[in-house]
Amino acid sequence: METKVIFSNDSAGLKAAGEIIKNGGLVVFPTETVYGIGADGLNEIAIKNIYIAKGRPSDNPLILHTNSIEKAEKIGYINSIAKKIFETFSPGPVTVVVKKKDIVPLAATGGLDTVAIRIPSSETARALIEYSGAYIAAPSANISGRPSPTTAAHVIEDLSGRVDMIIDGGDADIGIESTVIDTTGENPVILRPGKITLPDLQKLFPDATAEKHMKENTEGYKPKSPGMKYKHYAPKAKVIVFEGDAELKIKAELETIQKNGKKAAVFCRASSKYSADFAVKWQDSADMARLLFSTLREFDKMGADVILCEAPDNDAMGESVRNRLYKSAGYDIR
Ligand code: AMP
Ligand code: MG
Repeated sequence: METKVIFSNDSAGLKAAGEIIKNGGLVVFPTETVYGIGADGLNEIAIKNIYIAKGRPSDNPLILHTNSIEKAEKIGYINSIAKKIFETFSPGPVTVVVKKKDIVPLAATGGLDTVAIRIPSSETARALIEYSGAYIAAPSANISGRPSPTTAAHVIEDLSGRVDMIIDGGDADIGIESTVIDTTGENPVILRPGKITLPDLQKLFPDATAEKHMKENTEGYKPKSPGMKYKHYAPKAKVIVFEGDAELKIKAELETIQKNGKKAAVFCRASSKYSADFAVKWQDSADMARLLFSTLREFDKMGADVILCEAPDNDAMGESVRNRLYKSAGYDIR
């Protein structure tokens, strides 16, 4: 399949993208979190094509994107918790899990009787929702298991020839995926952390909680969010995360790696100094979120064998980054 690439300021192109979605095709588009691979979320064949293009396991459900609470009510039972979350944080980087209505095919929900709904703030995403008239199912636009894409170049790397169109909207603002919140219980539960954090949610619901992040395939681990059990965000290089006072541990590891003739990269605080082959530095947790996935891909391209990461600060956004970073490292945390 030939993939057409357009820029997000091309309004005729955006209308054409809307037509592609209407006709059951696949369009990659930027959002405020990461790039998504979009298709008509009520069209079973289009949905299946998303899974094929990404190589995504079919029990890993998709998020449906729309532009109003009224429209969300057509695909899910929006209870008072879900409504309050939407009213407070949407449009924005938050996804609400509710009981699904019959109109939503099980192919979109990985067979679950719930559906994940998001109202994005990205202008391009909103234009595409508008022009297509669809509920756009859109998981991250990477090959399953790879770091999520935060630029059109990442998408081209993974999905060129596998989708009808890619809309280039520059760098994603936030850099990690939306916060997923289950609202089907008595109190809301964060299934996947993101820019909207537990303290943010607890301002509305003091009894809100977050699922602990746990290693995939840990015995007895049954995440409520099926996607959390799969290998995720992994570059080709080995990733190691260093918690606490990392400096001496990283320096020792660097020596070993370099003695073995391997190339080492570090992803660390702006104030840290290491003699690595490659380095990318971050200022704070939000900066780290923006840089994380693109840095992992960059280090791969440069030929790093090992990527040593200083863990983020212990603030709320740091927790969200930690969730992705631990997965990237396959839980090699030292
Ligand atoms: P992605 O689309 O790649 O950002 O991944 C979507 C995330 O939302 C995955 O972790 C899914 O498991 C989660 N998700 C989607 N739908 C549901 C649902 N109905 N219940 C729980 N988690 C969901
Ligand atoms: Mg994903």
